[in-house]
Amino acid sequence: MANKTMKVSENIPGPYFVDTDCIACELCVDTAPGHFKMTDDGQPHAYVFKQPQTDEEKDNCEDALGACPVDAIGNDG
Ligand code: SF4
Repeated sequence: MANKTMKVSENIPGPYFVDTDCIACELCVDTAPGHFKMTDDGQPHAYVFKQPQTDEEKDNCEDALGACPVDAIGNDG
């Protein structure tokens, strides 16, 4: 389970977040490219750049959350 006290700093505020356990596998970016991006400098990791608004977008983020191999994606909404 992702830890909301360990969010990466790049997350945009809102319910979905990536924490520091991310291993940069990029699966969330492939699954929900409208919401997750990889950093392109320093230690590579994913972050949430857009929170979901519609039910379809929420489904995409939930799919990414479920697919993350290290449970680094959280939803504290
Ligand atoms: S799926 Fe999980 S481990 Fe992979 S890049 Fe996304 S947050 Fe990181």
